[in-house]
Amino acid sequence: MDDNFVMMQAFEWTTPSDGNYYTFLKDNAKNIKESGIDALWLPPMCKGTSKDDVGYGIYDLRDLGEFDQKSTVRTKYGTKDELLECIKVLHENNIKVYGDVVLNHKAGADYTEKFKAIMVDQNDRTKDVSGELEIEGWTGFEFSGRNNKYSDFKWHYYHFSGIDFDNSSKTKAVYRILGNGKYWSNEVSNENGNYDYLMNADIDHSHPDVENEIFKWIDWYLDTTRIDGIRFDALKHIDYGFIDKLSRHIMQKKQGDFYLLGEYWQNDESSMSKYLDNTDWRIDLFDVVLHFNMSKASKSNGTYDMRKIFDNTLVKQKPLNAVTFVDNHDSQPGQSLESWVDDWFKEIAYALILFRKDGYPCIFAGDYYGINSEELKNQKKSMIDNMIKVRKKFAYGNQDDYFDNQQVIGWVRRGDINSSKLVVIISIGDSAQKQMFVGEEEADEIYVDLSGHNNHEIKIDENGNGLFEVGPGQVSYWVNKKFI
Ligand code: CA
Repeated sequence: MDDNFVMMQAFEWTTPSDGNYYTFLKDNAKNIKESGIDALWLPPMCKGTSKDDVGYGIYDLRDLGEFDQKSTVRTKYGTKDELLECIKVLHENNIKVYGDVVLNHKAGADYTEKFKAIMVDQNDRTKDVSGELEIEGWTGFEFSGRNNKYSDFKWHYYHFSGIDFDNSSKTKAVYRILGNGKYWSNEVSNENGNYDYLMNADIDHSHPDVENEIFKWIDWYLDTTRIDGIRFDALKHIDYGFIDKLSRHIMQKKQGDFYLLGEYWQNDESSMSKYLDNTDWRIDLFDVVLHFNMSKASKSNGTYDMRKIFDNTLVKQKPLNAVTFVDNHDSQPGQSLESWVDDWFKEIAYALILFRKDGYPCIFAGDYYGINSEELKNQKKSMIDNMIKVRKKFAYGNQDDYFDNQQVIGWVRRGDINSSKLVVIISIGDSAQKQMFVGEEEADEIYVDLSGHNNHEIKIDENGNGLFEVGPGQVSYWVNKKFI
């Protein structure tokens, strides 16, 4: 990743489903680039279960908003033509585009099929709780609205490994589909005994026809959209051997000029590191641990120990493979993995991802543009724009950490020959001061706070130390005045 790149997750869960989102992004491309955002993670592009589907209830991989299926031509975000036009304009504005790829499951089947299955324990999917049953599951995918365009592949029950509903008895339970040699993948998270099954019809990646179809699909998808990277959804639930092979195929096809990242949602750095190893370090992962640390700190009433904010994080342990983020479409209020970083802490959290040396930071549209519901709408665009500007201008060089107080931490970025040092100070308690060393050559220089919280100036002493200030529950970021 280039120096000080910034990515944005361009959507949140409640992004309006009026079909105008691709157009919105296209119209804002210039502004997005001028704000210092270099790459956008777009929402899943494939047709979901309805026009309101965020995209994770994925129906047809080959329908990017082109065919009349699920009672809609467009997806939640627009039509295929609007998508391709959006990507083209983003590229013209020198913005990279990452596609969200959902390969764990399929939803909204066209018809049910009857097949043999065994009911398993919800909490331990390795444990059978029934004998062999004949069930009726939503596993038949015909895509008649597409009429075999791009692919004539039809999905049937034998392409899946599990389902969560028996239509004949109307029973909701996790069913493991039976077949010759068929079982859950062993190369998935071992939460719930075996976490291959997440939702809907769970794709069996060990089926040769499935592998063949997905490999053909990825070539079509990359050639059609011309995206620059992929964000893989739900990796914890997908056979890592399959993803390893698929990601190798993608990097070969793109001759290494492509970016891969993945969602491995576990608050545990060692599981994520194991995953990096299992996929040959080809795929960056979101730093889920840092997100949870920040969420906890934001809800601690000042009792969180800020010296430990980076403890056990991916960005600390595997800095070259970590995408740091504050919140996302799943962690936002009301969503499945709700673990929101509270409002007062957001600026601190963005400082922790934008002003550090390590990690590829990902801004969340739900923070940047605000969440699309009245009580939550709290746009932070100007605050984040200012912080990105500071990152791009001043966040260079090595960093000296002052993680020496439970409530008040700070660090100094040493800068490069063309930029000022950057001094960051955070307090989750009262107003505070901290002495930090910026360099003997800085003696008598004047530092100012670019956060806008303090409007007076600090003079560096003859030894190169400054006594930097921060307000209660705030972050301040100080630079040498002559560089602004
Ligand atoms: Ca799975």
